[in-house]
Amino acid sequence: MTTFDAAVIGGGLAGCLAATHLARGGMSVALFEKRSTAHHKVCGEFISGEGVPLLHEVGVSLEQATHISNMRLHGPTRSCEAPLPTAARGLSRLLLDELLLKAAQESGVELMRGEAVKTLEQADGLFRLGGVTARRVVCATGKAEFKPVQTRAGRDSGMVGFKVHLRLPAKARDRLRQYVDLFVFENGYGGLAPVEDGLTNLCFLMEREAIAKVQGDWPHVSRWLSGACEGLAGYLDNAEPAFWPMATVANVPYGFVRESAVSDDIYCVGDQLAVIPSLTGEGMTIAMQTGKRAAECILAGVGAKEFQLEMAAVVRPRVQLGFLVHRLFKSPRISDLGTQLVNRWPRLVEYIFRHTRSPAV
Ligand SMILES: Cc1cc2nc3c(=O)[nH]c(=O)nc-3n(C[C@H](O)[C@H](O)[C@H](O)COP(=O)(O)OP(=O)(O)OC[C@H]3O[C@@H](n4cnc5c(N)ncnc54)[C@H](O)[C@@H]3O)c2cc1C
Repeated sequence: MTTFDAAVIGGGLAGCLAATHLARGGMSVALFEKRSTAHHKVCGEFISGEGVPLLHEVGVSLEQATHISNMRLHGPTRSCEAPLPTAARGLSRLLLDELLLKAAQESGVELMRGEAVKTLEQADGLFRLGGVTARRVVCATGKAEFKPVQTRAGRDSGMVGFKVHLRLPAKARDRLRQYVDLFVFENGYGGLAPVEDGLTNLCFLMEREAIAKVQGDWPHVSRWLSGACEGLAGYLDNAEPAFWPMATVANVPYGFVRESAVSDDIYCVGDQLAVIPSLTGEGMTIAMQTGKRAAECILAGVGAKEFQLEMAAVVRPRVQLGFLVHRLFKSPRISDLGTQLVNRWPRLVEYIFRHTRSPAV
């Protein structure tokens, strides 16, 4: 049985960043990813400006990504717009996650594709998992619970996430160029962002009790969303889905922050460490920052307990502010009021953006 310096469970943003930095630091690394092929993940696909250098650092090219420098906010009946403090990018997770896995492999990581790790045994200072042994483990399974590591029980936002790529008519696509549009409706909110190949990502969250409203074919879903939020109608008329059915995810544990480590050799990163509400567009960057930081700690001999305390202190204030905005956002009346406030004080957007961004760690 091969023994690795580290085993990383989960080949998303956090896992790939951790594995690549560990391998670049000279460690032998096994990376387990349960999905055997590229697939659509539920995500707004908005990469915040703070995340861009982290991708460049591991050699991921963003040449296919779109540039996003402004945002519009549509309440049920009112809209506003404001510039973003830092330019963001739009790129599908279908492409981004594959680029990250490739970067990890090119750094010397042993990728075990199509391997779901189910158990983790520890004996004589070694972990045994997925047919290998390893000295340390990085848990990067995202929203999926990994049983051997303490779960996030009790943190369920009651929201279900949906995602589909759309081909918009040329006029609507031009209107969205360089913009991310956020929209709020009774029972949920979402975003439209331009991604590669002229496609537009429509991603939204709905309260679980209300999802029957968006069950059916695309004409039904599009009609319902356009009726629920005036600002959306102009985009969805004559738009065609690039795939169907929509990708979905349930039980999103918004607001979760892991406060302590399970063991000094198991490092939890990404959504396993903290889950910031999606409307902040910061989850991917936190995943990359914590993945990279875990690698730095492992390479420097810093244990998982210290890593976890440091990371919780860095991300907790951001997650708390994001959670507050998420709760206010869910109220159509407050979001309409929010658009009025932003029209009067566009710097409010800058304030929320800056305070939900994690400083470089
Ligand atoms: C509706 C919605 C919209 C969002 N929009 C945005 C946005 O616009 N911008 C943004 O920055 N963030 C957004 N986020 C958050 C962002 O998607 C996550 O924070 C980010 O993907 C977390 O990265 P991760 O690496 O921790 O997990 P993931 O990206 O989920 O990766 C986890 C990986 O682990 C694998 N895995 C799971 N279990 C196992 C196992 N047992 N063995 C092996 N492999 C396993 C999975 O297959 C997966 O590939 C959004 C989230 C939601 C729900």
